Amino acid sequence: MQKVAIYPGSFDPITNGHISIIKRALKVVDKLIVVVAENSEKNPLFKIEERVKLIADLGIENTHVKSFKGLLVDCAKQENVNIVIRGLRAVSDFDYEFQLALANRRMNRELETVFLMTDYKYSYLSSSMLKDMAKYGGNIEGLVPENVKNKLKERFLSYGDN
Ligand code: ADP
Repeated sequence: MQKVAIYPGSFDPITNGHISIIKRALKVVDKLIVVVAENSEKNPLFKIEERVKLIADLGIENTHVKSFKGLLVDCAKQENVNIVIRGLRAVSDFDYEFQLALANRRMNRELETVFLMTDYKYSYLSSSMLKDMAKYGGNIEGLVPENVKNKLKERFLSYGDN
């Protein structure tokens, strides 16, 4: 039987850190559903459809992307999946992730969260830091795929080269 997992997040926008987790996850599962959450951030830079498209356009094999509004446990149930992938960058992620994993398991005893470590190169990278860098013209080369770089450039045109 195929092992399928979901990888939920805001992905506002997807970064090379997220992609590193996707690639690692695909070493332990056969298929990955990247779930773009509609509710986890109140004021996202990109609309949900844009965030989904940026990921789908990467065409990562054995991966598909969808959006979801509501509880992760309900999304997992809907997809008939009981493995959740989350990325850990540093110890600072642990508290929140631990809380989230326990809350989810309380709602669905079958749901297991699997944590994967990022590539050290991306351990400091977050979508919010990236947005700040892009907004004020910092160099974001190597931190995001080409399509995301172009989209950020388009969005922050007035701020300079990035
Ligand atoms: P959320 O709002 O759910 O935290 P994010 O898009 O910020 O959504 O993150 C989704 C998941 O990806 C989280 O598990 C987060 O820890 C992980 N993640 C984010 N950035 C990185 C990175 N640079 N390296 C590894 N994992 C990351």
